[in-house]
Amino acid sequence: MHFDLSDELKQLQAKARRFVEEELIPHEREVDETEALSAKVRDRLRRRAIEEGFWPMNVPKELGGLGSSVLAQIVVQEQAGRATNGLWSFVGGPYNALMQCNEEQRAKYLEPALRGEWAAAYAVTEPHAGSDTTNLKTRAEKRGDRWIINGEKWFVSGGESSIAIICHALTGPGEETLFLVDHGTPGMRIKRIPRFMHRHPDRHPEILFEDCEVPDSAILGKRGEANSISKAWFREERLHIAARCLGAAQRLIEEAKGWCAEREAFGSKLYEHQAIGFMLADSATELFAARLLTYRTGWEEDAGASNPKELHAKAAMCKLYAAEMANRVADRVVQIFGGRGYCADYAAERLYRDVRVDRIWEGTSEIMRSIILNGVMKRDLGRLLG
Ligand SMILES: Cc1cc2nc3c(=O)[nH]c(=O)nc-3n(C[C@H](O)[C@H](O)[C@H](O)COP(=O)(O)OP(=O)(O)OC[C@H]3O[C@@H](n4cnc5c(N)ncnc54)[C@H](O)[C@@H]3O)c2cc1C
Repeated sequence: MHFDLSDELKQLQAKARRFVEEELIPHEREVDETEALSAKVRDRLRRRAIEEGFWPMNVPKELGGLGSSVLAQIVVQEQAGRATNGLWSFVGGPYNALMQCNEEQRAKYLEPALRGEWAAAYAVTEPHAGSDTTNLKTRAEKRGDRWIINGEKWFVSGGESSIAIICHALTGPGEETLFLVDHGTPGMRIKRIPRFMHRHPDRHPEILFEDCEVPDSAILGKRGEANSISKAWFREERLHIAARCLGAAQRLIEEAKGWCAEREAFGSKLYEHQAIGFMLADSATELFAARLLTYRTGWEEDAGASNPKELHAKAAMCKLYAAEMANRVADRVVQIFGGRGYCADYAAERLYRDVRVDRIWEGTSEIMRSIILNGVMKRDLGRLLG
C-alpha cells in the first residue's frame, strides 16, 4: 500500500499552486470589493488556465476535453481552493451536463465552453424547493414541436453572464427534463440579484420563466433524464467542493502557523499558549483526515474500485467532512488572528465567509448525512468503509 501522489501529480500540484499564487490570488481583494472582474481579466485567466492544462479537465478527450483523471482534478481543485472569492471557478471545466449535448448543440454550447468562452448556469432550486426537489414547480408544456416553460428559479450561479441557462423542469407526471434556454429568449428574465455572504465575480440571480417558448431541440440529453444527469454533476462537484475545502484549510493553517510563530502575548509566542496551539493541532489533524478521504475516493473512482452508488455515498462523505472541517478551521484561525481575523485585509476573514456556503450548496450537510445513511443501510459496509 502506498498513499503518495505520483511524480506526475506532484508536478501538476506544484504547477497549480504557482498558477493560483500568481494569477488568482492577486485578484482577491478586487473581487471582494467590487463583486466583479473586468472582461479583460476574465479572458486572461481563462486563457492562462487553458494554456496551463487546468481547463477543461473534466471533459473526455473524445469530446475535446483534457480527459484528466478524477485524482488530477482533485489535486488542481485543492490548489484552486486556496484562492478566496470564487476565483477557483477559472480552473476545472464546464458543467458536465453539457457533455449530453447532441451534435448540433455541441457547436453552440459545448465547444465554446471548452474554449473557456462561457460557463453555463444550472437552474434547479426554486423558492419552495431546495433540498426537497419533489416540490419543484417549474413546468414545460409541449405544444406541437415547442415547449412552454413557466416557473421561477433561485440562486442560479453565473446566471447573468452565461449565454444559456440549463433549466430543470417537469415535463409530465414524475418526469423531469433539462432545457438549454438562451439568454434573450422572450419570457426568460432576471428578476432579482440578491447579495450573499461571499463576494464572487459570478452572482446568483433569481430567474423567471413566463410562457417562455423553446423548441424541442432545446432539450439537453433525453426527455426525462434530468435527475440522472444532475446526479452525475453532484458526484463530480461534491468531490471538487471537498478538494477546494482542503486547499482553503491548508492556506488557513499556513497563515495561522506564520502568525503564531511571530506574534507574542504575555511574554510567549502565541502557539506556546496551549489554547491557541491546540487549535492548530486539531486543524492539522482534521485536514489530514479530510485529505486522505478525498484523495482515496478520487483514486477509487479512477480505478473503478467502487460502483456509482458507493461513489455517491463516498462523495457525500467527502463533502460533508471536508466542508465541516474547513468551517471549523476557518473559525479557529479567525480566533487565532484576533481582531485581524475579523478584518477583510486578511485571507482568514474572506475564507471564513467563503467556506460557509460549502455546507449548503450542492446539497447541505444534512442532506449529505441522509445520503451516507442510505449508503450505510443499503450497501455492503466492507465495500463502503473497507
Ligand atoms: C450561493 C449559492 C449558490 C447556489 N447556486 C445554485 C445554482 O447554481 N443552481 C441551483 O439550482 N441551486 C443553487 N443553490 C441552491 C442550493 O443548492 C440550495 O440552497 C441548497 O440545496 C439548500 O436548499 P434550500 O436553500 O432550499 O434549503 P432547504 O432545503 O429549505 O433547507 C433548509 C434547512 O433544512 C435542512 N433540511 C432540509 N431537508 C432536511 C432533511 N430531510 N433532514 C434534515 N434537514 C433537512 C437543510 O439541511 C437546511 O439546513 C445555491 C445556493 C447558494 C447559497
